[in-house]
Amino acid sequence: MSRELLSLAVPGVRGLKPYEPGKPLAELEREYGIKQAIKLASNENPLGPGAKALAAIRAELDGLGRYPDGNGFALKAALARTHGIAPEQITLGNGSNEVLEFVARAFVLPENEVVYSQHAFAVYPLVTQAIGATAVVTPVRDWAHNLEAMAAAINARTRLVFVANPNNPTGTWITADILERFLQRLPEHVVVVVDEAYYEYVSEPRYPNTIPWVARFPNLVVTRTFSKVHGLAGLRVGYGVSSAQMADLLNRVREPFNVNSLALAAAEAALADKQHVAESLKMNSGGMQQLTRGLDDLGLAYIPSVANFITLDLGRPAAPVYQALLRQGVIVRPIANYGMPNHLRVTIGRPQENERFLAALKNAVTSDL
Ligand SMILES: *Cc1c(COP(=O)(O)O)cnc(C)c1O
Repeated sequence: MSRELLSLAVPGVRGLKPYEPGKPLAELEREYGIKQAIKLASNENPLGPGAKALAAIRAELDGLGRYPDGNGFALKAALARTHGIAPEQITLGNGSNEVLEFVARAFVLPENEVVYSQHAFAVYPLVTQAIGATAVVTPVRDWAHNLEAMAAAINARTRLVFVANPNNPTGTWITADILERFLQRLPEHVVVVVDEAYYEYVSEPRYPNTIPWVARFPNLVVTRTFSKVHGLAGLRVGYGVSSAQMADLLNRVREPFNVNSLALAAAEAALADKQHVAESLKMNSGGMQQLTRGLDDLGLAYIPSVANFITLDLGRPAAPVYQALLRQGVIVRPIANYGMPNHLRVTIGRPQENERFLAALKNAVTSDL
């Protein structure tokens, strides 16, 4: 990168570190000369898309010469029915990540502050820094968001707060009463995003459904996605639910055709595919048990998770263990870039994948590295 070009970039972008995705399978197989590697690194659904979504994609192929419906009429109608809200309360995104960016672009100036937790989702610092705003990062309590600390960090310059529930990469969650009290305390000049990418996986009775809350909190944006339990990560489609006024503002910064026609059709079909969701949840809870038992047997610590991944605590630098897993054809996610150099995040896979991971992990931690 030439100094001259770098100096032309806006200040936020100059200091920005790009998002680090999990290592692609094909790259590992190429680099290590391995076949049949497995990837448990990006919290994708190991079953992939359901049959209904795939059929909807196929049916849509012949129409690809045309632009998609820029307002996502059919998908919004289906989401509105599902959630008991009006279509005007929905903002569709190219992944829910894009909705996070809409909120930042619609509300945050460089002189503003954005509050989020330590060890929270990597996209919050990205969108904050891209704008050149100041990130205020609050300490965790037992690896979970500490909403007391987050509330205390809010001042006159704060414009946006990100809450991940559950959080990635820790798998921790916030109860309905604590989250509701936090929202009640927020001053009127602050917008809050509650990021619920893993909503469908959580079976805790005290875990909130926050969508009805948008009627009471006009500054609240709840985000959900088709990338996780619906198995459509490659298509990029997610959404925000908010007051209609909030959605109006978010839609102003949205590009006209941000969600493609295959994604629109697949998401609508996936929403109706209760069976695929049920099978995915069943595989996940079985896999979570399999992994936690396996980790217990190995005497390894982990952070209890309600999502489709689990984060282990190796109690020492995780990088050599990550490398030893790679050499055995198993890709997991190192999270040193989340400030957790002793941890590895593992996505729950199919039973055989989980078994292979546990066997490789046993090798890795019992051999001298
Ligand atoms: C995976 C994930 C998302 C979803 O991203 P998409 O852009 O919808 O694929 C959002 N938030 C968190 C915390 C996530 O882990």
